[in-house]
Amino acid sequence: MPLSKEQLFSWLKNVGEQYSTGVVIIDPSEACLPIVYYNAAFTNLCGYTEQQLIGKSLSVLNGIKTDSEIETELNYHLQQAISNQFTILQYACDGTAYWNFMTLHPFRDAGDTVQFIFLTCEDVTELMLNKMLSKLEREVYIELDRDDELETILNVITDQIEKHYIRDAYCAIHLVQPDGSIKAVATGSLPHSIVEQLQTVEMELLADCSGTAIDLKEFIVAEDVLNDWRCEGFHDSELNSHIVTCWAKPILNQQQKVLGSFTLYFNEKTELKRTDIDFLNRLIPLISLSVKYAEQKQQLSRLAYYDVGTNIPNQHYFNNELSKWIVEGHEGLIILIQPGEYSNIVELYGRKAGDELLSQIVERLNQHSGNHEEFIARFTNSAIIVASKYKLTELDTYDFRVRQLTIIPYFINGKELYITLKLGIGFFSADLSAEDCIRQADIALTKSRATSGTKVVFFEEESDAKLQQEMDILNQLSYGLQHNEFTIYLQPKINFETSEIEGFEALSRWNSHVLGAVSPAIFISAAEQSGKIREIDTLVIKKVLSWQQQRLIKGLKIVPIAVNISPDHFYYESFINDFLALLSKYNVPTQYIKLEVTESIELVDFSKAKDILSTLKSAGINSSIDDFGVGFSSLSYLPQLPFSEIKIDRSFVNAMDDPGMHAVVQTIVQLASNLHMCAVAEGIETLEQFMMLKAMGCHTGQGFYFYKPMPLEEATTLLDLKL
Ligand code: C2E
Ligand code: MG
Ligand code: MG
Repeated sequence: MPLSKEQLFSWLKNVGEQYSTGVVIIDPSEACLPIVYYNAAFTNLCGYTEQQLIGKSLSVLNGIKTDSEIETELNYHLQQAISNQFTILQYACDGTAYWNFMTLHPFRDAGDTVQFIFLTCEDVTELMLNKMLSKLEREVYIELDRDDELETILNVITDQIEKHYIRDAYCAIHLVQPDGSIKAVATGSLPHSIVEQLQTVEMELLADCSGTAIDLKEFIVAEDVLNDWRCEGFHDSELNSHIVTCWAKPILNQQQKVLGSFTLYFNEKTELKRTDIDFLNRLIPLISLSVKYAEQKQQLSRLAYYDVGTNIPNQHYFNNELSKWIVEGHEGLIILIQPGEYSNIVELYGRKAGDELLSQIVERLNQHSGNHEEFIARFTNSAIIVASKYKLTELDTYDFRVRQLTIIPYFINGKELYITLKLGIGFFSADLSAEDCIRQADIALTKSRATSGTKVVFFEEESDAKLQQEMDILNQLSYGLQHNEFTIYLQPKINFETSEIEGFEALSRWNSHVLGAVSPAIFISAAEQSGKIREIDTLVIKKVLSWQQQRLIKGLKIVPIAVNISPDHFYYESFINDFLALLSKYNVPTQYIKLEVTESIELVDFSKAKDILSTLKSAGINSSIDDFGVGFSSLSYLPQLPFSEIKIDRSFVNAMDDPGMHAVVQTIVQLASNLHMCAVAEGIETLEQFMMLKAMGCHTGQGFYFYKPMPLEEATTLLDLKL
């Protein structure tokens, strides 16, 4: 006997009472599909008391974030009484959202007319949030894999949360910047007009985190931002119309340092529930991971594109950027800049001082960049490279800029240092590859290094052949040193009063089995650049000492011999000790050897030069300042440096016909006399020059007019003859 509708209803109600999950019965005979029964478990789920929902349609449970498509589907199934399952977002009596998993069971009578629809309901909020989180995690990993920017990744997070989170909220992620300020990195759908103001609020909230009152693992909740003391920045009407409550959670790294904040903003008063806390607590590690990943990525790119010592972009970076400019059709200059004293500074004060010098040069370059677009990188340990959209017609201003770089001393290791700069300039344009453009500037730099003082050299085609020659020299230097290809020549220094040989200058000679005779003017600078100069100087010293030792032993006439010492060697930490050790090894008294040091040395470090010269002097060793007048030394330093001799450079002696130059030489001779130093004129080639110098009061000189540099055997004969 089939059940009547009432009997069926009472039977279904009875079944509903037994259910531990929610049950709702709907009467489909009425168009509005009213709820005719729901059990206690459903009351627990939605918060409506027993009678509140009776007679109402199920759609009263829907709300702002309920998916309207699911809603339509559900209604259709209810109307048609088709059994099916739906997961739909509904809202409880207090406005909180929950996910309801519903199964529809239609009950029909014998005539197949639907009597009731029996709905079982299950709260699957946690499951859905977990699902959403897994989906979000997957998306974030995909973005991370794709190597996307941190901003993109964090924006995916905020967007997804706003879309899928059960609550209607704005979502934002703020990150602490290196300068301590806070930046909104991802802001979801927050109106642009209030994003900036929110940063102040975040600052307040995060400042609150650093106090002890709040456990960093907890949320910072401002339930009523208008009246919350932490949200002072919130008194803006536009802001308040959007935001009433906010929940912020600090993003921490493993050391518990605050990296930023994750915040949900609501436009109504709302309470933080357990499910929210659980969900959001799982979300934070995902954000931290993204931030950490982005930091690592940044670090990697810094390592790949920045020089660690100076934080200046590296060559890699430069090549990339230059290639881009070339492809875009830009033209301009490539400038390589190298401080002439870089290696001395590194030897004296260490690598950090070298880094510091380059950083200071870059700083000065940036101060004087004018309106020119450019970028700067570290080219090698000792050189900086600049690509600049300077035009050829503007080179005058570039010259001015270079001068600005050297006018004021650099402050390194607590000392003021004047430096010289070597500049090699090439051009970039679409005609050449980035690599070739750089190579040309490099060739020009090599040329500029071979001259003294601050020097700008432009690339010229013919430099190629010279470069090849320099390469050959570098290749052959080591071989020559190991295979006795170096000898010394001596050039007499003549006393103008007595015409006696007062001493000699030792000059190294290299007869390479491959290159033939190579001029010191070429191989000395190559040896200085390749670090071989100490070997050459030491070899010369040994040969000189050995010659002197033989003469002493044989009781022959003996005069002091001067050896040339390159600045690199002069500043080498063990120079003095090594030198004195050699003197005692060969048993040659100190008055029989002198040192000649080129003029620019005192520019590197005045006080260090002073120390070395004083120590040498107290050991009885006299020193000369060589090539005086050529470099950039300040005359005011000279009185304080214990040189015994000033060697007037050949170029001055050569040009004495000119009245101006005559006066310069005269001044140098007088200066030497005032300082109780001996003035020695170099490169005297004619009788006139000799007479002029003598008339000026110069007492000593050397040059082809008297003698050319000669091999040791010849010097032996010469000195023996004079006896
Ligand atoms: P310097 O020390 O100024 O040496 C004088 C140079 O002038 C020598 O050139 C010498 O041969 C040349 N000279 C001398 N009298 C005359 C003259 O009347 N007319 C002309 N035209 N030239 C004259 P050199 O031997 O070619 O050496 C060039 C430079 O190389 C030297 O200049 C010195 O700075 C450097 N040098 C030479 N030997 C050594 C060495 O063993 N160690 C170091 N560190 N430098 C060296
Ligand atoms: Mg010399
Ligand atoms: Mg000289």
